[in-house]
Amino acid sequence: MYGLKTEAYFDSAHFLADYYGKCENLHGHRWRVVVYLEQDDLQEVGTMKDMVLDFGVFKKAVRALAEEFDHTFLVEEGTLKPATIEALTGEGFTLKMLPVRTTAENLARLFFERLREQGLPVAQVEMYETPNNCACYRA
Ligand SMILES: [Zn+2]
Repeated sequence: MYGLKTEAYFDSAHFLADYYGKCENLHGHRWRVVVYLEQDDLQEVGTMKDMVLDFGVFKKAVRALAEEFDHTFLVEEGTLKPATIEALTGEGFTLKMLPVRTTAENLARLFFERLREQGLPVAQVEMYETPNNCACYRA
């Protein structure tokens, strides 16, 4: 089994609805996302011969996805009043609405699935919300 690993960062705000503790309040993280690829065999022809995947292609895909989340307010659908959403977007804030609770676990899964959709052989995604705390999702 061969593997590749790369990482990217993004800053975003979130809060957890129906949570009783500090995280129920709006706050931000510098999220660190670490992505692992795994493949039984190396590519046999072309510019990526004897590679899992060109690092340039891999890094570009992970960074583009991180960029999509960077400097946004991650909001679980249905957790803010429509008037609040309207007021925030009216002020020019960028909200990223997600169909799931904005936990590190769900973000790891979301990155995993989005990168798999692009055909990357993703084996695991780690999502750090602090330098010491990380959630992961693996195949
Ligand atoms: Zn948090």
